[in-house]
Amino acid sequence: MSETYYRLHWADCPEFNSDNAWSKPWGSRANPADPTQHECSCCPGDDPECRWCEGTGWMEARRGYSCLESAEELMAYMRGWAKDLVADPSVARPGDQVIVFRGQLVGRGDTDEYLVVPTEIVAQHGWAEFVASSAP
Ligand SMILES: [Zn+2]
Repeated sequence: MSETYYRLHWADCPEFNSDNAWSKPWGSRANPADPTQHECSCCPGDDPECRWCEGTGWMEARRGYSCLESAEELMAYMRGWAKDLVADPSVARPGDQVIVFRGQLVGRGDTDEYLVVPTEIVAQHGWAEFVASSAP
């Protein structure tokens, strides 16, 4: 069974594909050298006692992209996390894309969103275009 999912994929994220489908907490930085890791969110990044990164500053990311099941849910999620972007869609960068895709559900994220490894891109929209088309 294949469901359709919606994700806002930022311009500065690695290319959208199954190899790069790892997620990290909102606002944390991915390891540019290894998409399976992100910045440690539990210590300043240099604490050898830290049980998450052991002083390396990098912790394991979770498999799958954070995403939601419908355009409405994605809009509601972005209203909570990125109010500025919803209020003024023109602040989005040209590469910030809403990606509609199919894939395999592999888990749930920190805010209970879906974590999905993509198999197929169905559609891509610029953020402003997406907001305009989702307006009630
Ligand atoms: Zn740490």
